[in-house]
Amino acid sequence: MTQETQYGFYFDSSKCTGCKTCHVSCKDRLVGNIRGGDDVVNGGVAALPGILWRRVYEYGGGDWLQNADGSYEQDVFAYYMSIGCNHCSEPVCVKACPTGAMHKRQKDGLVLVEEDICIGCGACSRACPYDAPQLDEARKVMTKCDGCLDRLEAGKVPMCVEGCPLRALDFDTMENLIAKYGEGDAHIAPLPSSSVTSPNLILKTPRKIRSTGRILNVREV
Ligand code: SF4
Ligand code: SF4
Repeated sequence: MTQETQYGFYFDSSKCTGCKTCHVSCKDRLVGNIRGGDDVVNGGVAALPGILWRRVYEYGGGDWLQNADGSYEQDVFAYYMSIGCNHCSEPVCVKACPTGAMHKRQKDGLVLVEEDICIGCGACSRACPYDAPQLDEARKVMTKCDGCLDRLEAGKVPMCVEGCPLRALDFDTMENLIAKYGEGDAHIAPLPSSSVTSPNLILKTPRKIRSTGRILNVREV
């Protein structure tokens, strides 16, 4: 399949302060759509607790070490990673879906769920290394980031991008993002290697990074 256009995200972890406005803006759009009544996104289910289309991972580690003279030095580090769906070029979620409900659009590269033919088996969710597809347990239908389709059609950027006070996020065609930011840095923990799904995510990493940390806000993501 020849992709006509491919949308993607840019995330600058060196700017991100972990305020989680992106995460809250995403939820707020969906709650607003429920209240509005006529433009409900995925049945409004993504506004329910437990469904988080965008999450901010706090990743950190290191320790305080005592020197022979009794003094201490530290090598602690922490940074944030704001992640939604990367509308990947090799979407393992699409390959895993037995009905074709999870699909990638040729015209813009967005990966979306066709609710009418989704059987809620969870195969896409188990396949995705970014935890992007999230099941609506009540309706047994998969839900995920749709790139704020309604906003894109109105010429606006996704809510997470608009909400970020640090301008750490951006969304555009990959062609435009590469022209603005270049190819970006290699993906770092807690992200998987970009070789798994070819995510359309240009990442700028923070200055102090290590792979020996852990996710510090497990209950939040
Ligand atoms: Fe599929 Fe996950 Fe990639 Fe989104 S991030 S396209 S759900 S594999
Ligand atoms: Fe980071 Fe911006 Fe999200 Fe705040 S809104 S957590 S600064 S990406």
